[in-house]
Amino acid sequence: MPLYTCPRCHNIFPSPDKPTACPECGHLRPLTASEMEFNVFYRNRLSRIRDNHAPSMSMDERNWTRVLLFLNNPKASFYTSHLLRNYVLNATPELCLDTYKGYRWEFTRMVKQDRIALQLEGYRESKLLMRREDGTPLVKGWDCYGPALRLLYSFEAADPHKAPNLGNINGIDLAKIAAEPTEAYRQFLLDWLEAVKDVPSPMGFIIPEAKPLLKLMKKDDR
Ligand SMILES: [Zn+2]
Repeated sequence: MPLYTCPRCHNIFPSPDKPTACPECGHLRPLTASEMEFNVFYRNRLSRIRDNHAPSMSMDERNWTRVLLFLNNPKASFYTSHLLRNYVLNATPELCLDTYKGYRWEFTRMVKQDRIALQLEGYRESKLLMRREDGTPLVKGWDCYGPALRLLYSFEAADPHKAPNLGNINGIDLAKIAAEPTEAYRQFLLDWLEAVKDVPSPMGFIIPEAKPLLKLMKKDDR
């Protein structure tokens, strides 16, 4: 369903036809949502879905769902629905595990890239981790930590004062999540699929962005 945005109250909302007024404030002539607004709308919606189910998931699942959402590009949602439906939800545990390994491979690659960039800026990660009251890590050069590395620092861990490393990614028991997910985790996937299955997919926009994920499909190449 196409998205619209209100120039007065900045409400972003879906509507099958071009709406005449904003449903929140009544302002006339809402605009077609921009690409950034489109991303914001879906990212917020999906993290709300995750937050609903997260309390009943295992810690591994809570960390893993962060990775899955991080790697999902809202614009490539037609592709995500395809993966979720055929390679996760309706797949054998073996195929599902293969899909997850592909996501893990991609996330690890991005974390390594962020680490190289951080070193080039002259910052080093410390092994010990302190946090501010709002949970932000108290590390030098936090602004230079890239998005994948920041996500890794948002992982829950048994020892919150140990800085996260690749072990926190490799330690996620993906085989268990593939074979015996909790009901909350499975419901999260179903709700996610429901939320994105009708996202329009203008092919011209999709293909370049979705390309890095296409290699997940060709698992023999890895
Ligand atoms: Zn409005």
